[in-house]
This record gives sequence, structure tokens and C-alpha cells, in this order.
Amino acid sequence: MTESESSTDVRILTAPTVYVLGRQTIDDAALTQFLNDHGVSWQSDSAIAAEVLTESAGRVCYMSFARPRPGGNAAYLGHIMEVGHGSVLEHAVWNLLITGVSRSLTHELVRHRAGMGYSQLSQRYVDESVAEYVEPAIIAADPELHAIWRDAVAHAHRSYVTLADKLHAKLADPGAAAAAMLPPDADRTTRRKTARQAARSVLPNATETKIFVTANARALRHFLEQRGSAFAEPEIRTLANVILNILQQESPNLFGDYQRVPLPDGTYEIQTAFKKV
Ligand SMILES: Cc1cc2nc3c(=O)[nH]c(=O)nc-3n(C[C@H](O)[C@H](O)[C@H](O)COP(=O)(O)OP(=O)(O)OC[C@H]3O[C@@H](n4cnc5c(N)ncnc54)[C@H](O)[C@@H]3O)c2cc1C
Repeated sequence: MTESESSTDVRILTAPTVYVLGRQTIDDAALTQFLNDHGVSWQSDSAIAAEVLTESAGRVCYMSFARPRPGGNAAYLGHIMEVGHGSVLEHAVWNLLITGVSRSLTHELVRHRAGMGYSQLSQRYVDESVAEYVEPAIIAADPELHAIWRDAVAHAHRSYVTLADKLHAKLADPGAAAAAMLPPDADRTTRRKTARQAARSVLPNATETKIFVTANARALRHFLEQRGSAFAEPEIRTLANVILNILQQESPNLFGDYQRVPLPDGTYEIQTAFKKV
């Protein structure tokens, strides 16, 4: 996360942070038991659970454990991608916590439905009065544009805080019109939520958010290809590159085919010969 500026309560962010909160482990004893039960012996040359699990899943299809072709796990998964048997890649899963991204980014991210699960910061329940804002790089690079953007965000932020405070006060005042829109026995939490959910309507797309994403390798590959495209929006392309860097370390055999091609805006297009497996 990069904090380029702090003025009043407004913090400006320019880069996402991705935490890998979860990855798979393999139960070696259960795999050995299965192999023994079926009279075969097999050992993957990969030590990465996601790679061993996807290879195991693929080998179950033809029970091809006994006489594997040369090349080990890398060659096996490479062939799976080459022939487009993408469902095998659905058995590899990561849990990513993404912060320092804008609501406009997550609006695009959650369009990726198949193989992705999401839990996102609620603007109804969580106070945004210490909210952070994500500035597009093309605006941050120009002092004149940056000043216009910063003023607009600061203004929206102040309006949010004022609206939330006033709504909260009015919801506690039985004589106010707002209070009549809630049941008379509405508790403090309900009043707070009601105030925040209305006040957030003035928050900009740039508002920082946090999103927990659980995704399988096939869905992640589709995301990387679509959002790493030269036609994608730069903030989500940057995120795709951060995630690609992580995944290439997590699993070279599932993500090692991707190449990065520099673009004029400083981001990289993500390319592969094995598109949408
Ligand atoms: C550069 C760019 C510009 C975009 N511009 C716009 C825009 O202007 N407006 C807009 O609304 N969206 C836009 N999108 C979003 C885009 O249309 C997709 O919603 C998004 O990229 C997710 O892709 P997906 O549907 O393939 O992903 P997923 O929902 O994850 O689906 C993955 C794959 O599963 C299959 N699948 C999923 N659901 C179904 C289904 N119901 N029936 C059959 N097959 C299914 C398809 O093969 C699909 O490709 C844009 C995306 C990009 C990358």
C-alpha cells in the first residue's frame, strides 16, 4: 500500500495490497491410501499442494498414475492447459485478502462469478469517516489534475461525515422526519446502519475498500487474462499483475506460462498462449 498524501481525514492510496491468507495442503496419507487401495504407486515431483492436487485430479480421469509420461508435474499441467481441460484447474484454490483498492475496481472484480467467492467491507455497517481513497495513476501524475481530484474527494468525504452525523442525530429524534421511517423500537445499531447506508450515497468510486476473495486456478487465470489485458482499466490491471506475481511464486506450474508486456502507462499486459483453459 502506498500512501502518497494525507490531508484532513483523507488518505490517498495509489497501490493495492494482496495478502495470501490461505492455500491448500495435501493429506499425503490419504493419497497413499488411495494409491495402495488401487494397487498403484505414484509420487509427484512437485512439492506444491495445489499442483499435486490438480495433477491427482487429472490422473483420476484416466487412472494414469502407474505409467506417467516424462516431464513430471510441469509437463502434466502444461498439457492440461494446452488441451484446454480447464476443469482440472478448479481443484487448486487460494484465499486472497485485497486492500487498498477502489469501489470501482471491486465493482469490476465481482463480475467474475464462476469459481470466485467474495466477502467485502460493508459501507452500511462500517464507518467511512476515516475512509481512504484510491487515486488513478494518470491523475496522480499531473499536479493540476491531482488538486482537482483531491478537492473533490475531500468535499465528498466531508459531506459524508456531515450527513452521517446529522442522520444519526435525526434518527434519534422522534420529531424528525427521518425517525418516522424506522420502527419506534429501532436500536442504536439499526440507526447507525440506516444513517451510514444513506450517507454513503455521496462517497465516490475512489473510496478504498477491502475484499476477501477465494478463487480457483481456472477462475484466477480467466481474471488475469481479462483484467491483465491492454484494454482493461489500469487499476485492476495493476491488481492483476500483483496477483500474477504472487501466483507465479505460489505455483509456477499453474501460472508460469504468463508473460508481461510493458504498456506506456507503466503497467504490464498479461499474455499467454493458453487462453481461457
Ligand atoms: C476490458 C473489459 C471491459 C468490460 N466492459 C464492460 C462493460 O462496459 N459493461 C459490462 O457490463 N461489463 C463489462 N466488462 C465485464 C465483462 O463483460 C464480464 O462480465 C467480466 O469480464 C467477467 O467475465 P466472465 O463473465 O467471462 O466471468 P465469469 O462470470 O467468471 O465467467 C467465466 C466463464 O464462465 C462461463 N459462464 C459464466 N456464467 C455463465 C452463464 N451464465 N452462462 C454460460 N456461461 C457462463 C463463461 O464461459 C465465462 O466466460 C468488461 C470486461 C473487460 C475485461
